[in-house]
Amino acid sequence: RRVGYAIVGIGKLTADELIPAARTSENSYVAALVTSEEDKGEAFARAFDLSDRDVYTYDQFEELADREDVQAVYIVLPNSLHREYVERAAKMGKHVLCEKPLGMNADDARQIVAACKKARVKLMTAYRCQYTPEHWAARDAVQGGRLGKVKLLDSIHTQVETDATAWRMKQDLAGGGPLPDVGIYSVNIMRFVLGTEPEWVFAALHQPKGDPRFREVEESVAFTLGFPGGIMATGLTSYGAAKTTTLRVLGEDGSLLMDPAFPYDGLKLQLTDEAGTHQPSFPEYDQFTQEFNHFSRCILEGGTPWTPGEEGVADHVVMDALYESARTGKVVPLKSSRKKDASR
Ligand code: NAD
Repeated sequence: RRVGYAIVGIGKLTADELIPAARTSENSYVAALVTSEEDKGEAFARAFDLSDRDVYTYDQFEELADREDVQAVYIVLPNSLHREYVERAAKMGKHVLCEKPLGMNADDARQIVAACKKARVKLMTAYRCQYTPEHWAARDAVQGGRLGKVKLLDSIHTQVETDATAWRMKQDLAGGGPLPDVGIYSVNIMRFVLGTEPEWVFAALHQPKGDPRFREVEESVAFTLGFPGGIMATGLTSYGAAKTTTLRVLGEDGSLLMDPAFPYDGLKLQLTDEAGTHQPSFPEYDQFTQEFNHFSRCILEGGTPWTPGEEGVADHVVMDALYESARTGKVVPLKSSRKKDASR
């Protein structure tokens, strides 16, 4: 049995990654596409091995209700549109896989979770890095005590954005700049490897005057998260610095380094402990295929996704507090208490 998906939004991620990934999934396939009127049509259908009838405009979205072969909807739209489309999908009784960040802020994300609960459909936040063997090996090393008592983490996620007109540069469409777009990976993976939630946060941001790209959103954020037991984690994110993605964890008896830590492939993990330094190797995989496989398994066999909507909310809680800290110049305490199971 396989789960049919309707993918909403045909941007670069959908065309280059998601559609090819679904083709190699063991239990998922793309049954329909939802896109804008202008680019709707035969070209898409042909390129993606679908018939014209499988391509819908945003206005025709509700027609998917009658498509029994579409059990799930994958939302790959600008961040401000996630909530509207999750709610519309949930109303039709479709399960929802939603791209990160789940919403525009914690309140928006909580509404998304509530809509899916009310409609009794499953909701998964598409955190692809929580479905890689490298990140699981890092988590196991940290939580299994291999590095000794963990003291410090740091993570960088930067890239250069040149298009001042892109939706990513509009506060109303993106909900922020590099923090919710790429810095979110650092926040998410720090929480994932430690398996705990930060107790306080502190941040500073830079928004250069006169650069049309940063009229509405920040260029860079430097932040610190305080985790239980005095563990401190620092992060850097930017739309103005060359592509860099790293994660480092320092313990009393060893350390680990992922560099690169967050690309679609080619991740590298290096572990240093009493036995020396080595780089474990892993079988080849596709992160997006892993996500499809996992969510479809939850739908077919029953079960909660490893990264449910609540996981998306948890990152928004941290990011909202980081923006508050940058605005006020103060440390912001957090009450969040998201608990997770030990296994996937
Ligand atoms: P994109 O700009 O390439 O595509 C966005 C799609 O939304 C296009 O089909 C566009 O036509 C449509 N759209 C509808 N209304 C729009 C509007 N008002 N303005 C602009 N586009 C509109 O974006 P993308 O890079 O595919 O990002 C989409 C989502 O996927 C975002 O939430 C983003 O954070 C996420 N994303 C995740 C990853 C990942 O690795 N998981 C990578 C890239 C993007």
